[in-house]
This record gives sequence, structure tokens and C-alpha cells, in this order.
Amino acid sequence: MFEYANSVSELAQFIIKNYCRNFNFAVDATLGNGHDTDFLSTLFSKVYSFDIQKCAIDNYKKSNKNNVKLINDSHEYIDKYIEEKIDCFIYNLGYLPGGDKSITTKANSTLNSIIKATKIINNNGIIAICMYVGHQEGEKEKNCILNFVQELSKKNFNVTLHKYINRTNNPPMLLIIEKNS
Ligand code: SAM
Repeated sequence: MFEYANSVSELAQFIIKNYCRNFNFAVDATLGNGHDTDFLSTLFSKVYSFDIQKCAIDNYKKSNKNNVKLINDSHEYIDKYIEEKIDCFIYNLGYLPGGDKSITTKANSTLNSIIKATKIINNNGIIAICMYVGHQEGEKEKNCILNFVQELSKKNFNVTLHKYINRTNNPPMLLIIEKNS
């Protein structure tokens, strides 16, 4: 085990915990097995969690978290459900571990969602995107996202890409978009 960056998910959580400035509203764009929502619900006053799979929503309902609003819809439609400025977004892309691998996040809807996220992220907020590039859709998704974020205004956003450069077999990457103050 390593201390700094065992996994992109852990690194994302470390960065959020240490560098987000406000802890009011957060979005888990990909609920899945709920690990990111668990994390966010301990830090933020209210968490919106999206998943297109009803089984993910139903499983998480059992946790009975008062400050989590579960939304069984695509994160592409975040603006239909959210009125507040959001302090943090987590996207953990790809398919549900242990689930149906054919149900995976898709380049177009992910990109549309991230575009909307950059419009409603609060000042000093963080958008963390864990990208799994070892499958075809994941590679396409990563390219679409990178094309978009590299054009974001450097005055308003700081964009960093974390990648394991000595791992084999297309290791995951973590993209962090930080909104300025
Ligand atoms: N964050 C999760 C956790 O802590 O276990 C892992 C997420 S898993 C890698 C990706 C999830 O995204 C799957 O549960 C899948 O159903 C969901 N998903 C796929 N497309 C989606 C979309 N357009 N909107 C919301 N969720 C989506």
C-alpha cells in the first residue's frame, strides 16, 4: 500500500477534503456502490447522488442517510434537479464494479454533464473526475473530456491531470477542475 495515491478515488477524496473551501452542497454524479456518496455525506450538508441504474439507487436507500438525495436519472440532467451552487462534484466513470459492464458512462452524456457542472460549481469548488481508460468507451470519454477542459478559461479554472506513469495496462487517471475564488 502507498500513502499518497493508492487509487484515483482515494486521491480525489483527499484533495476534496483538504482543498474544498465550502461544504454545503455536493454531487455524486455516479452513485454506483455508494462509496463516494458515503464520503461526501460525512463532509457536506447535502449531497445529490445520480445513477441511471435503479438497483444502485435502491441499494443505497438502505443506508438511510438524511442528507443524501438519490436521483434515478442521468447526470446529464443535473440542472433539472439542482438550483444551488455546488461546492464539489465527483464523477467516478465507467461501469459498476461487480455489475453489468455494458451499462457504462458514455462520452456524450458525461461531457454534457461536465459542461453543466462547470457552470454551477461554486467559487473555490472542486470537480473530481476519475477516468478509467482501459476500455474502449472509457478512452473515447477521456479524449472528449480532455478536449473540453483544456479550453476552459485559465482565469476561472485550474485544471490538473494525475496519472500513474509507471503502471501498465492503461491505468486510471484523475482530473481535477478547481474554480477560482
Ligand atoms: N462512485 C461509485 C462508487 O463509489 O461505488 C462507482 C461508480 S461506477 C464506476 C459508475 C456508475 O455510473 C454506475 O453505477 C453506472 O450505473 C452509473 N452511470 C452510468 N451512466 C450514468 C449516467 N449517465 N448518469 C448517472 N449515472 C450513470
